[in-house]
Formats: sequence, structure tokens, C-alpha cells
Amino acid sequence: MFTLNLKYEIYYDKDVDLSILRNKIIAIIGYGNQGRAHALNIRDSGLKVIVGNIDDEYGDKAKKDGFEVYAIDRASALADVVFILLPDEIQPEIYEKYVQNKLKKGKILCFASGFAIHFGLISPPECVDVVMEAPRMLGIGVRDSFAKRRGYPTLVAVHQDASGQAKSIVLGIAKASGGTKGGAFMSSFREEAVLDLFTEQGCLAGLYDLFKAHFEVAVEAGYNPLVVVLELWKSGEILEEVKAWTEIGLFKQMSMHSLTSQYGSLTRGPLLVTHETKRTLKKHLEDIQNGMFAQEWIAEQNAGKPSFSKLKKRVLEHPINKIEEELDKLVYKK
Ligand code: NDP
Repeated sequence: MFTLNLKYEIYYDKDVDLSILRNKIIAIIGYGNQGRAHALNIRDSGLKVIVGNIDDEYGDKAKKDGFEVYAIDRASALADVVFILLPDEIQPEIYEKYVQNKLKKGKILCFASGFAIHFGLISPPECVDVVMEAPRMLGIGVRDSFAKRRGYPTLVAVHQDASGQAKSIVLGIAKASGGTKGGAFMSSFREEAVLDLFTEQGCLAGLYDLFKAHFEVAVEAGYNPLVVVLELWKSGEILEEVKAWTEIGLFKQMSMHSLTSQYGSLTRGPLLVTHETKRTLKKHLEDIQNGMFAQEWIAEQNAGKPSFSKLKKRVLEHPINKIEEELDKLVYKK
């Protein structure tokens, strides 16, 4: 069926020397989820950080956090390392308008995802290093885990090594951000971009629809929708379960559940996820790999996101939303 390829190249704090970044200015472009966390962590690691953001509340937050905040083009001009921490769909436009013409020999362009480079939406000049430090963690976790000295796991990659030092530089960025505490896996822009989208469109996408279908079936059968949603996710029990997946193991944690629960899951699960489901997953993966999904998403954005808006409106009008609001009034009230 498949062979397990367990090859890896991983780096920890002890393997990485930060001195390669000591005299460099690192511009964090975008002060959102990852931007703020990285800016704070890298500064706390003793490096020089500036922020590039448009002049609004995110920019104000960066100023309040004590950073020098510049317009994106100015920050890109001042920096040695330009770390793009904008949403993936915005990156090509901002890069073209404000970053591209500030790049020159000796500079480093860094991303936290492989999307724009792998799908050819950004093509940097050959004279710069192009690297990636992509946390496997939400922004808030990137900051929290740094503060607790635990760090987070991350994927690092080199797309272009103009200086001959790109790998040491990206590992330095990972160390300063907290990524080599959790472990920095050598990866590639392709691997990150494809697997990230496949997770979103495979397992996660399926979960949303499975929860919705499960809710509909139970409610159509006459069960109290409040209890159905409470049972499914609103009680927070599922958080404990997901925590156990990460700490104990996806299947190993099953022994924390009753035998009845285990028997029910093991016999009924395979009837829900069939060969047909696997065929669909394979098609999703192929569409990601051959760039079809990226093209579709770019066309959708260029057209003003009509399908996206319709789909989003539809789910936000689903009765589930009303039930959640009712539960918010009832559960965990003092
Ligand atoms: P956010 O959505 O949190 O980024 C918001 C930032 O982008 C803000 O500073 C915002 O500024 C700025 N921004 C948004 N639109 C524009 C615009 N049109 N012009 C200028 N600035 C704009 O992004 P994330 O932190 O979630 O993602 C950043 C990168 O990190 C992405 O490459 C993502 O794939 C990657 N990543 C994200 C993870 C996550 O958990 N979120 C995990 C791992 C990687 P303002 O609002 O002021 O316009």
C-alpha cells in the first residue's frame, strides 16, 4: 500500500549560531498573527527588528509594543532580512508594489509559507536568498511557547541560496523565533505549500461537513439541537480529545474512552470514510499539486470572490450558528 520514508534532517538550539544575524536588520512585514509573534520573539532573542505595516490599528499595536514602524516599502529598503508575514493571498500584490524594487544583492527574503513562491506568484531576483520558516503553530502559540521556553516545531527551507549562507540564515531565524526549541525540520517550499493546503482541504474540510451532516441527521431525527451541538463541540470535550491525539497518539488515546465508544468508532468509522472518500482526497491532492487549486483561487479573488462570499454566507446562515448563540447564553454561566 505504501512505504514509510522516515528520513529527516532536524535542527535544535544547540545546532544553530545566531551570530550570522547579529548585525542585520530584520523587517517584519505585516503585524498580524505570525507577524507580532515573530517580531516579539526575534527581538527578545536580541536581534534588531523593525516593522513594516500600513498605517492602521495593527501598525499602532506594533508602535505600542515598542517597535519602529515604517511603510512597507521603507521597511523593505532599510532591512537586510525582509520577512513577509502577510496573508498568502495578499503577498503577490504587496510584493510587486512595495518590496520587489527594494531587493538587492545580499538581502534575504523570508516567508512563513511556501504558497506564493511554489505556485509562482512571486519570482524574486536571483541576487537574493529566498528562505522559509513556517511554524506548525498558530501565531498566539508561537509567542506563548517562546515565553514558556518550550518553543514550537517548524519547517525551514531554502528556495534560493545567492549568498551561500541561506541555510544558516534561515536556521538563525528559526532559532530567534523559537522554532529550534521544538525542532526545525528541513523541508521545501513545495512540501509546505502542498501539505498545508491538503490538510485544509482534506481532513479539516471533511470535519466541517461531517459535523454539519451529523447535526442535521440528529436534529431531523427529533433530538434537541442544543444538546446535539453541546455533545459535538460546544462543551469543549473535543478540545481534550484533540489534546490527547497530540500528547498520546491518534489511536493510542482511544483507550481513554469506554470500550463501547471504542467498539462503535472502530466498526462505524470505516463505513463513513470509504474508498470513494480516498479517491476524492486523491483528486484534491492532485488539484493542489498541479496548481489547479491555486489558479482557481487567484481567479476567484480577481473576480471579487463571488463564490467564496456565497459559500461563507450560506454557512453563517446555517441553524448551527443560532444554536451556538443560545448555548453561549446558557453554558458556563456563573
Ligand atoms: P494575518 O492575517 O494575521 O496578517 C495580517 C497582517 O497582514 C496585518 O498586519 C495586516 O495589516 C496585513 N495586511 C492584510 N491585508 C493587507 C493589505 N491589503 N495590505 C497591507 N497589509 C495587509 O496573517 P497570518 O499571520 O495568519 O499569516 C502570515 C503568514 O504566516 C502567511 O504566509 C501564512 O500562511 C503563514 N502562517 C500562518 C499561520 C497561522 O497560524 N495563521 C501558521 C503558519 C504559517 P492590516 O490589517 O493593518 O492591513
